[in-house]
This record gives sequence, C-alpha cells and structure tokens, in this order.
Amino acid sequence: MESACYVQSHPFRGHLLGTDPYRSPAAAHPPKPAQDRSEPPRAQQQQQQPCRIISDPCTGRSYSKGRLLGKGGFARCYEMTEVSTNKLYAVKVIPHSRVAKPHQREKIVNEIDLHKELHHKHVVKFSHHFEDSENIYIFLELCSRKSLAHIWKARHTLLEPEVRYYMKQIISGLKYLHLRNILHRDLKLGNFFISESMELKVGDFGLAARLEPLEQRKKTICGTPNYLAPEVLYRQGHGPESDVWSLGCVMYTLLCGSPPFETSDLKETYRCIKQVKYTLPACLSSSARHLIVGILKRSPGERLTLDQILDHEFFTKGYTPDKLPPSSCVMTPDLHPPNPARSLFAKVAKSLFGKNKSKTKKSSEEKDDISKLVTGLVKTSICRQLSYKTVDGNEIAPVSGHALTGSSSPVETLTEEASGKSVSRSIRGSLVGSSDAFEDGVSASGVMETALEVLKDCLSSMPTVEGKPTSLAIHERFVWVSKWVDYSNKYGFGYQLSNRSIGVLFNNGTHMALPANRRNVHYNLTNSRHFVFPAASVPEQLQGQMNILNYFASYMERNLMKGGDLPCPDEEGRPPLLLLQWVKTEHALLMLFNNGTLQVNFYNDHTKLVLSKPQDSYLLTYINRDRNSQTFLLSSLLETGCSLEMFHRLKYTLKLLQQKAES
Ligand code: ADP
Repeated sequence: MESACYVQSHPFRGHLLGTDPYRSPAAAHPPKPAQDRSEPPRAQQQQQQPCRIISDPCTGRSYSKGRLLGKGGFARCYEMTEVSTNKLYAVKVIPHSRVAKPHQREKIVNEIDLHKELHHKHVVKFSHHFEDSENIYIFLELCSRKSLAHIWKARHTLLEPEVRYYMKQIISGLKYLHLRNILHRDLKLGNFFISESMELKVGDFGLAARLEPLEQRKKTICGTPNYLAPEVLYRQGHGPESDVWSLGCVMYTLLCGSPPFETSDLKETYRCIKQVKYTLPACLSSSARHLIVGILKRSPGERLTLDQILDHEFFTKGYTPDKLPPSSCVMTPDLHPPNPARSLFAKVAKSLFGKNKSKTKKSSEEKDDISKLVTGLVKTSICRQLSYKTVDGNEIAPVSGHALTGSSSPVETLTEEASGKSVSRSIRGSLVGSSDAFEDGVSASGVMETALEVLKDCLSSMPTVEGKPTSLAIHERFVWVSKWVDYSNKYGFGYQLSNRSIGVLFNNGTHMALPANRRNVHYNLTNSRHFVFPAASVPEQLQGQMNILNYFASYMERNLMKGGDLPCPDEEGRPPLLLLQWVKTEHALLMLFNNGTLQVNFYNDHTKLVLSKPQDSYLLTYINRDRNSQTFLLSSLLETGCSLEMFHRLKYTLKLLQQKAES
C-alpha cells in the first residue's frame, strides 16, 4: 500500500447501491393492472455523464467500471475493463472512509501483502492495486460465475460427485496456502469463487494470516460463526487444522443443505460447535458420513489432514467429474461416471453451451439431446403445474405439456444470438429464484444502483419550491410497462410494454418475450444463453412456458384497458426489452429493465414514474392520474424543480431504493 500514489485531480463518482439479490414477493392475487398513454418527443439535449473511468495515477492506465459483482465487509467489487487492452478484472473498491481507522487500513494492507505473493490455479489471482483520493482499488482475476454461495443459493444441495469436484480444487488451493504457511481463516462458500470455465478459486484473504508457532498464535475469534472450529472458540488460536474444520463444514453444507451447527441462536451454535453436536442426515452416503466425522473432530490433532481427506474412500471410490457444466450453477447436472458411450449430458452441454457448435447443421442425434435438455430445464422450472388458476381465481385446465401444432423441428429453428450487441443485451446466467444474477450486460442491482445515485443527486439539488419544468416530447425508443399481471404465486410476472411486446419473468428466473410483431420468441434460459425461435415453431419442450406467455398476453389484451400504446419501433434483430426484477411494496410496484429503465407504478391513483436514458440524457416521465404523461430532462428538473405530487413520488422511490440498498 505504501507504494500506492494519490491523485487529487480525478474525483471518481460511482453509483453505489446495495446488491443483495432479493426476491419479489409472491402475491396472492393479481393486482389491478393499468394502462396509459404517452406523448411523442420534441427535443434531445446532451447531459454530462457521471465518470465511470478510473485511472491508475502511477501507470496512467485507465479502466472502465462495469457491473457490480458483489459487496463485502469493506469493499464493493466491480467488473472493470482495462481500456487499452480490454482485459477484464474483478476490482474491489474500498473507500478510504471505510478504512479510516489504523487497524482497518492494516487489514487491507495485510490482505494485499499476503495475496500478491500467491500464484496457484485454485487461488484467485491478485493482479495489482492502486489508490486515488477516494478509494483503494484491488485488481483480481475475474470469476464470472461468482461463488459457491451463489450456487448453493440456487441449488441448496449438490450431488456427491459435484462436491468432490469442488472439494478437490479447494484442497489443492488450501494445500498451497498451508505449504506457504498461510492460513485462510475464513473458508466459507462465499469465498470459493467460480471462473467462467467452472474452475474453483479460493479467494478473499481479508482474514488470512501467516502461521505462527502455537504459543505465538493470535487468539482472536475470527471467521464465519457457523464454520468456526472449537479451538478458535476456546481462544487457542487458529491453525491449519482450523481451516480443515471449516472445510468439513463446507462439505456438510453442500451435501446436506445447511451448515452442521446452524441454529437460530449464535450462543447455541457455539455450544454445539464446542460439543461437536450435529446430525448426519440419512440421505448421506456412508463414505460421506465417515469423512465428515473424520474432519469434524473436536481436537485439532485428531482431525484428518488434507492429504488424508484426499485419500479417503469418499474421494478414491467415488466418481469425480473432470468438468462441470455451467448449467450446474442453477440446476442438478446429469452426471455419469466415464462410460464407453458418451455421457448424454456432456454431449448436450457441449452442443448447447459449447463454443464451436454449428448453428444450423446438427445431427438428428444431437437434436434429440438438445430437446431432452430443454425438456429438463422446463421440467425443473414448471413441472409442478398440474392445474392453474386464472387471475380471477378460477381453476382452468392445465396447459403445460400440450404440444401445439407446428413445432416440427425445434432444433433447426433454435439460434443462439452471438453478436456482441445481442449477447450483451441478453440475460445471462440468471439464478433460479432470483433474477438478479445476470452474467453479462446490466444487472438489476446495477440498474438500482445507478437510479439511486441519480435520484439522490436530483432530489438533493432540486429547488424545494414547486416548479413548472418544460416537458419534452417523448423519444421514439421510450418504452414503458403499460399493463402487468402478477401471477408469481404460480408462474411469474407478465407485462406488456407500450410498444406492445409481451414478456414474462418466470419464477425460476427464465424470461420469455414476444415482440410486437409476434414473429419470434426470445427465450433466456437460466444457463446464460439467449435463444430466438420463430413463434410458429417453438420447441415442444418450451410449449408450457409459451402457453403461459400467451395466456398472460391474452389476459392483458382482454381484461386490461387499452390505450397509450406507442408506434412499434423497428425490432428486427433486436431482442426485446427484458424485465430484470420487480419488487412490490404496500404502495407501489418497482420494475427494472436491462436498458437501465426503472418504472414505479403507484397503486392507489395509477400514477407512474419512469426514469430512463434512451440516449445520452436521463429522462423522467410522470404519468398522472388522468393518464397524461409528461417527460422531462432530469437536468432541467434540477433547475426548475417539479410539481409537489411528482416530488413526493420521487422521494418515495428514492426511499424504496435506499431501503433495498441497506437490506
Ligand atoms: P470483503 O473482503 O470486503 O469482504 P469480498 O472479497 O468478500 O470483499 O468481495 C465482495 C464480493 O465481491 C464477493 O462476495 C463477490 O460477490 C465479489 N467478488 C470478490 N472477488 C471476486 C472475483 N475475483 N470475481 C468475481 N467476484 C468477486
């Protein structure tokens, strides 16, 4: 850290906000949907953009700040691209204000000093660091699939072969650390990062320490409460065996779904740890049980070592896959021990996720495989549909699984959008039950983060007197939700946009959209790929979801008020707008889209706020209770102020975003 330079002249203003994925509450009844009308645009004005470029004052290298990857104790971690090379990094950004106290700064310096020496395949690579007047920046190898915590959140339990796959890599990284006399001291799911190619990397050296002789070890209790070893709780210091204990807790959590000593009360958890009191579920194999018992020994000396763990029959007799498919981040993989016949899953994963697949010519064998995988995905998401209710609460016949006519050759019509533009616009890698984790392009948390900062700036600088700003005509690309149906107690959230395209964000995080011309169906799987099918030949396996989409569409068409639709922009070749996340509060519905648009609908009077940035400037549209809309340049509101009713709604929206950021 001492070598880092300071720069005063480069004030960096990021848009920061909480990123914890939250789920949209399921509603028992669909709310009253609304529709509206907007007006066409008159003028466009340029507005100064907030700076998203960060420069290393020593080397002069510039980095452009991308999506927020996550946040930790001190840091927020962003994806950043080196401008001159396009190289991607995960960058921990630590505001000086968060490490103002000497012991806090010491912690960061310690983390950097330890981490920069480490070079191992299964340890997150440290690249470099620098600081400016506001922050310290730590540049790390980007692990685009986040961490085992995210996988666990989506899957809850993993298969034994998967656990072996991850544990072998953890042990490999951990052996390297221990050989160099470094203790990690905070091994937990969230610190096992997963790369694009599904390799595990041990990371976060915030609590790491050099191994001291027994008598000189620090007796501090540090780590994650659930995974603390008994000797750490007894303040006997942290040794390599304490890391092994945490590894045992990780193995247990991945196989059983929750940590071995988890209780609702921390004191009780500590009591259980000290007494090594935990249960072994009957579903565990005998070798897994035996290994866990061998690791979770109260006395560090009796605990298995890392080599003994690798020699245990759990590893030597059980099958460990060489690779796991990315889809296993969100769904149970179809794993088979090596077999002369090629594994179905490997073939399917390759044909669906592989890089060099041919887009048009596929053997009939491959077609079948893809169909099976797609069936599997759909089953995972909506297989429990036996019947469902109309939005009025009437039971109607099941529609899923009914093949529609015209789905002759699903695979030939399946195309993956590969152009940079479309890929960046497509939802990638969304997690089951949470649509917050898109691997590419804009994330819901990124949209919220930006909106929070923009609204905060706006409200703090706006004149308090009621103003009459001049409204603009609306931009042709301005699109907003004109109708919506919350059917998340069963399937998901459906919406119609002002350009008449229809979308459904399903409860499992997949998204299906039908543009206004109804020609193609855009489908975003949970596995990070965006597919487009001609609407007339959607694969049979997606018919369940397609039927739900149609159902939503016709419901909205039949039952919700018409009007307010804008002319459809030319959508050829462009994926429709995607809803990333929605949140309902007592008073309002918040929706976030992948083009950065945020819309808030207030239930009681049907007023709406839409914050959008169709081109270079932020626009704020207010749709009043008479369904008349006015659009303003945000920059002009800063000068003139706005009406009181708009002001109150803006304040409410800001409060809502702040609340989400803190949660
Ligand atoms: P802290 O040391 O402040 O606790 P972390 O190291 O836990 O910060 O990082 C915060 C979050 O940033 C993590 O939970 C993770 O989501 C994300 N993150 C950290 N490092 C990486 C990385 N190398 N690649 C991708 N995401 C990362």
